[in-house]
Amino acid sequence: MVFGNMGDTSGTGVAFSRNPSTGEKGLYGEFLMNAQGEDVVAGIRTPQTIDQLEKTQPDVYAQFVSIVDKLEKHYRDMQDMEFTIEEGKLFMLQTRNGKRTAAAALKIACDLIDEGMISEKEAVSMIDPKQLDALLHPQFDAKKLKAATPIGQGLAASPGAACGKVVFTADDATEWATQKGEKVILVRLETSPEDIEGMHYSEGILTVRGGMTSHAAVVARGMGTCCVSGCSEIVMNEEAKTFTLAGKVFKEGDVISIDGSTGKIYGEAIPTVEATVTGYFGRIMELADKFRALQVRTNADNPTDAKQARLYGAEGIGLCRTEHMFFNPDRIAAMREMIVSKTAAQREKALAKLLPMQQGDFEELYEALEGNPVTIRFLDPPLHEFVPTDEGDIVALAKEMDMDVADLKAVISSLHEFNPMMGHRGCRLAVTYPEIAKMQTQAVIQAALAVSARHPEWNIVPEIMIPLVGEIKELAFVKNVVTETADKCIANSGKCIADSGKALTYKVGTMIEIPRAALTADEIAKEAEFFSFGTNDLTQMTFGFSRDDAGKFLDSYYDNKIYESDPFARLDVTGVGKLVEMASTLGKQTRPDIKLGICGEHGGDPSTIEFCHKIGLTYVSCSPFRVPIARLAAAQANIKNPRN
Ligand code: PEP
Ligand code: MG
Repeated sequence: MVFGNMGDTSGTGVAFSRNPSTGEKGLYGEFLMNAQGEDVVAGIRTPQTIDQLEKTQPDVYAQFVSIVDKLEKHYRDMQDMEFTIEEGKLFMLQTRNGKRTAAAALKIACDLIDEGMISEKEAVSMIDPKQLDALLHPQFDAKKLKAATPIGQGLAASPGAACGKVVFTADDATEWATQKGEKVILVRLETSPEDIEGMHYSEGILTVRGGMTSHAAVVARGMGTCCVSGCSEIVMNEEAKTFTLAGKVFKEGDVISIDGSTGKIYGEAIPTVEATVTGYFGRIMELADKFRALQVRTNADNPTDAKQARLYGAEGIGLCRTEHMFFNPDRIAAMREMIVSKTAAQREKALAKLLPMQQGDFEELYEALEGNPVTIRFLDPPLHEFVPTDEGDIVALAKEMDMDVADLKAVISSLHEFNPMMGHRGCRLAVTYPEIAKMQTQAVIQAALAVSARHPEWNIVPEIMIPLVGEIKELAFVKNVVTETADKCIANSGKCIADSGKALTYKVGTMIEIPRAALTADEIAKEAEFFSFGTNDLTQMTFGFSRDDAGKFLDSYYDNKIYESDPFARLDVTGVGKLVEMASTLGKQTRPDIKLGICGEHGGDPSTIEFCHKIGLTYVSCSPFRVPIARLAAAQANIKNPRN
């Protein structure tokens, strides 16, 4: 036992060997003279900063500096230390590797390389990939933030900062953003699935109710959109489109700022700055790329997300969910027309309207990817997701299609399914309506031809992915539609290819997201040139519980220690992983050069990435904001278990 309360030459303190917020080298900490540890913790007296020790006790300070240097060199990392001085004699009580912010972690890792203390591989391995998330979203301009005063506090539900005009409905968010070009913050009591489009167009989301797993929080995190949830101080008047906070009434169009990393709300405009992967961050990412074996792609279905992902280092698109392109207000009408068509001729007429739009979408994606691979997944969800539920929309559609309203309502109700996730979706849509696959193939191939003609320097090889396959014959059936259409398209446009001196080639592959596909992967690989593991559905179908409803009971499973974590976020290596590994092995037996990827939500999870590396996948694909996390996790996996 040593005593820091033995008079004015005694004291106690805590110090870091580098600044834990910025990573700046140099002692950072505080101490109290004539005090014990609990006095520092109690906060009754104000401690002095560590540099003051140099003035009061220069010898002790010099000794402390030399010990810190020795400890850092020994542990080869930034140290968090506790010390006591008893009558002028220094005692070190404890040292451990210090906790630090993401920014500090990157700077410290780079500095330790430059100081010759650690190798590049050690630097890459010492950073927690998940920590990077905080650096990947827009932040407030630091100077402007200092001058601002928060007026409210909610939960820090989804990181990043946002500034924009207040809107109160998802429809207003969409309209203000798309038609007036405004930046908006969607303020709601709580959000629901109908709000998704509006949420997508919002800079940030603020809710009065709901916790960290509320709809708003979960969806915003998935979108990479800033969100503050559960700010119960807000008094909402949805009808009048106003809310009151800190005694001030905010109307539609008033500017507010919210910080999803701290939960703070500001009643004023604070400019934001975009995240960039530069400086120390950029250097660590470059090193990660040097050491990783797995490729990293992104899940993106619009040019904005695709470009963002490219900036973050994505090497291609691993999943373009084409259905997202049809929810756009200017497409949905043609899509609905196609769905309620009674004859193939009617359907083809509607599809002809969608073709140029879809081709345009794909051209934009190919442009954004600059010759890097793009995997386009054909229409997947149950069709009822697209049909109108609003009476006005139903009447308008009936008119457009020259149909009786009652007749249309009957068609709509015939689309009802008891279990839509296991119903008429995925490749089953292309089996029943091959003309959908035909249109999508035409759009993909024509887009690739057009962009190849504009950019002969890019080698565009379209990758067409058929979803929800469980039987080789259904894949063969759809593939046949695809190849017949694609080959015809290529032959017809031969001139355009010949101009660039290249013949367009394409690949057809499948998602492995049904256990039967995994079990028969050796057969499936006879038709599929690549597999992409759709682990969202594969998890759903393997566990036998719904990906949309499992949240209702999973908490009890964690409380009762049945599951440790959400199997939809972190791959269940024991069960689902076994299927993934088995399918990879079987696929390679049939087709040794088969390309293997993962595009479920798990593709951005570091522990899943380690597993994907181990079993020899070619790439992981994740949302744009997780690309740097995936790059780092892939490098760490290869450093731990080098791939030959
Ligand atoms: C999946 O099932 O993992 C997948 C990526 O497809 P979706 O989430 O679109 O069903
Ligand atoms: Mg799926």
